[in-house]
Amino acid sequence: MSPAAAAAIALAPLVAWRIVRTALACLGNRSPAATQAALRHFSPAQLDAGRMHTRAYLIPDLLRTLLALALLWTLIFHSLAGRMESAAESLFAGLPLQAACFLVIYIGLHVVIFAPLEVYSGYVLGRRLGTLKQTFPQWLAFQAKGIAVNFLLTWAVLCMFLFLVRTFTCCWWVIAAAALTLLAAVLIFLQPIVLAPIFYRFTRLHESPLRNRLLDLCRKAGVEARDVFVQHESKTSTHSNAYFTGIAHSRRIVLFDNLLNSHSPEEIAVIVTHEAGHWSHGHIFIGIILSAVSIFAGSFGLNYLFGVPGVEKFFGTSMGRLSALPVITLLAMAASAFAGPFVSALSRKFERQADATALKITGDPDAFISAQVRLVCDNNIDVLPHPLLVRLCASHPTALQRIRFAIESAEKKEE
Ligand SMILES: [Zn+2]
Repeated sequence: MSPAAAAAIALAPLVAWRIVRTALACLGNRSPAATQAALRHFSPAQLDAGRMHTRAYLIPDLLRTLLALALLWTLIFHSLAGRMESAAESLFAGLPLQAACFLVIYIGLHVVIFAPLEVYSGYVLGRRLGTLKQTFPQWLAFQAKGIAVNFLLTWAVLCMFLFLVRTFTCCWWVIAAAALTLLAAVLIFLQPIVLAPIFYRFTRLHESPLRNRLLDLCRKAGVEARDVFVQHESKTSTHSNAYFTGIAHSRRIVLFDNLLNSHSPEEIAVIVTHEAGHWSHGHIFIGIILSAVSIFAGSFGLNYLFGVPGVEKFFGTSMGRLSALPVITLLAMAASAFAGPFVSALSRKFERQADATALKITGDPDAFISAQVRLVCDNNIDVLPHPLLVRLCASHPTALQRIRFAIESAEKKEE
């Protein structure tokens, strides 16, 4: 059997799982009891809007994954990546220029192939559903910035990775994993002060009772937030959110202006305390440690795999070459699909802990519940997703589970 055919068979479960996921998302939770429970907090129109919005993106998302797998498969098993590598090496001397040339072709190929899908799901659907505020030229400029940042970051990582693999042939995986972990920490630090401002305008939340209240609540949760910033999201979309970002001196609370415009101070307080709960429970630190562990495990796995006789021939490349990039991307996609259910179960556990902190510190279950309802409406979330999909893929408990948790916490407190 040819490597191309063997790889296609190996990828079949990944494709099948992706199709099953789409079917489950389309099906949703049809249980009459769940619908009755949802109707206690949401109107039929709100339930329909979340469901319709989720369904609109299902087929484009499925096509995006299938197209990505097909492209990687073609790049690897039909020697396209090898030919791109030869072109880069014949045109330029030195790793930085060769890597830049290879990436221009690699990312350019992605941009051209995915363009119709991205325009449809990113722009047309967003405008049709009323969630996107950008005009087409603004949307194009936003995408162009994303592609440019992606190019620069991928180029830096690729150059560093290949340099280390070529220099430290026997123990490259330890040094490369350590360097990538360090780079990831630097990027987390730079995210709020360098990367995010490329895409959005940020301003400090002016001195106000709300600002003082939010900083006070964070202190009560055991988190010293340095500042509160407003992300001017309303120029881009109708989404509302709040998050903690950065580490050390760059750490800050960020609120979407849509959140400030549409939520009450009590609802904003409960949302921000939830985010502070993630810090006080050490979720951010655990996340960084887990990322480092996965980087080390991935590097070790690649080193081990490419040491097995016949593997280099199977993929038509070796670790120190530019053409290894699509192989690493494909293996990372397979590994993340496998790890997905474990990661999402851990994430849901963290979310429940942060919810408990928010409820305990604010002591305001009513604001917690109304914030959940408003967040669902602002972000067009499906209130009734399929239970199996929630168990295997959801990063957060459903809105109904969180509302039930708030009601039970209040009842326990009264007892
Ligand atoms: Zn959270």
